[in-house]
Amino acid sequence: MRLVILGPNGSGKGTQAKLLKDELAIAHISTGELLRAAVAAGTPLGREAEQMVESGGLVPDDLVLKMLDERLAEADASRGFILDGYPRTLAQARALDTLLTRTGRMLDRVVELEVSDTVILERCAARFAIEHRRDDDPEVVRSRLALYRTNIAPIVEYYRPRGLVATIEGTGEVDDILARILATVPK
Ligand code: AMP
Repeated sequence: MRLVILGPNGSGKGTQAKLLKDELAIAHISTGELLRAAVAAGTPLGREAEQMVESGGLVPDDLVLKMLDERLAEADASRGFILDGYPRTLAQARALDTLLTRTGRMLDRVVELEVSDTVILERCAARFAIEHRRDDDPEVVRSRLALYRTNIAPIVEYYRPRGLVATIEGTGEVDDILARILATVPK
């Protein structure tokens, strides 16, 4: 099973991706987590990406793609994966197709988690008040949300003609959202 999950910061995308990993016994690949780990470890990639990760801007495509290529080649990803945080641009969606085709793989489903801007801003503000995560700062959330909305539409339209897109209402109980997603995943 090869899935992509799309949704802005605060949509519950990471939570659902982790649950899907366990439910479907596939690898959870979060490019944000991989990048944060690289920054924390001070690898050459981490040093190059650090400023963009901190500011909430996009890390250059070639860096992210190389990192993803290496991660997809790891053993656990051969059973399937859920990609969380990638693709973020149309160019990345195309690059992913090229990468998967090269290794004889195809996507099975693209899950789009739909949550309104108002709810996203409320959730992130609540989390910021407790955790003080820099990327939950209201200013950062607003700019990331605008970037997401601009970039996501062409990605969804890229996948839609292939019948890959499932748009899921992302508000309500975590388990209910998971059940909605699982109902759209090919058996
Ligand atoms: P995330 O945890 O998915 O919100 O990602 C955290 C940060 O990592 C983002 O704000 C970007 O700076 C960077 N990042 C994650 N995934 C990508 C990607 N696919 N392309 C470019 N930058 C990314």
